Amino acid sequence: LPEQEAFDIEYWLLEEAKLQRMPKAKPLVGKVAVVTGGAGGIGRAIVERFLNEGGCVALLDIDVEALESTRAELAKRFGKDVVRSMVCDVTSEDSVINAYVQATLEFGGVDILVSNAGIASAAPIEDTSLALWMRNQNILATGYFLVGREAFRLMKAQAIGGAMVYIASKNGMVASAQASAYCAAKAAEIQLSRSFALEGAPLGIRSNVVNPDAVIRGSKIWTGAWSQERAAANKISEEELEAFYRDRSMLKRSVFPEDIAEATYFLASDLAAKSTGNIINVDAGNLAAFPR
Ligand code: NAD
Repeated sequence: LPEQEAFDIEYWLLEEAKLQRMPKAKPLVGKVAVVTGGAGGIGRAIVERFLNEGGCVALLDIDVEALESTRAELAKRFGKDVVRSMVCDVTSEDSVINAYVQATLEFGGVDILVSNAGIASAAPIEDTSLALWMRNQNILATGYFLVGREAFRLMKAQAIGGAMVYIASKNGMVASAQASAYCAAKAAEIQLSRSFALEGAPLGIRSNVVNPDAVIRGSKIWTGAWSQERAAANKISEEELEAFYRDRSMLKRSVFPEDIAEATYFLASDLAAKSTGNIINVDAGNLAAFPR
């Protein structure tokens, strides 16, 4: 090689090596996320994942006590400027609009929505009261619509795009016994996400779904009344119920809140810049094949 060319190559190799050694900015620095149900098991894991990647997070939840203790603990670990909490009932239009106004005042805008707040219920169809049906539709389908619509309006006004992730459920794809109201509402969430994807695409707004299978620990839904009822109905202990979900899965592994947080982070970040209207099933393989 001529001397100058050899020098140039050496120079660029050294520059490249220098770049590799330089600390890189965390991927969510400068991004603001709203996470509904942020004081609960899966929501909280998502909030932690985002804070670890440098993002700012507004936690929305109806559980005032859990919300405040979660905010205080996270503020201690990550700094009080990056985490805020807003009491919000996702079934109330006014409450949702207020929460977005507060989040915008605190952080100057919203780049990411994770719609996650939810409940679970167990009842055979013939014992499903209209009240139980409506509770599922209100918190899940309507709640996801309200928080999604307000995020959409805000992202459109900001004109810099955005990312939405809807935490639905494998029950939005396949039915489970004693869960008709829940299954119907979860299917509605998945279709809603696709509508946001379609109308958001021209604006640079992406919308995707994460479907958890039964999330074993660190979740109020799992550790609360639902798993007790489910175990009792099948005349087994909660530990046996956990083993049932693990053993019937293709990978023979339990799904944890952190697994849902990982998929959510992927879809919310620029790693998924070319994915919209999609679904990631975090189910240890359950939806891929007939029962084995
Ligand atoms: P969780 O009960 O631990 O957390 C849910 C959070 O949502 C709670 O903090 C609760 O206070 C909040 N919430 C409930 N109603 C609300 C309302 N009206 N307004 C605002 N906040 C409200 O539950 P989780 O297991 O972390 O579930 C999170 C999401 O994941 C839910 O949408 C659930 O359907 C879905 N999911 C859970 C599982 C599972 O096995 N845990 C499986 C599939 C899907």
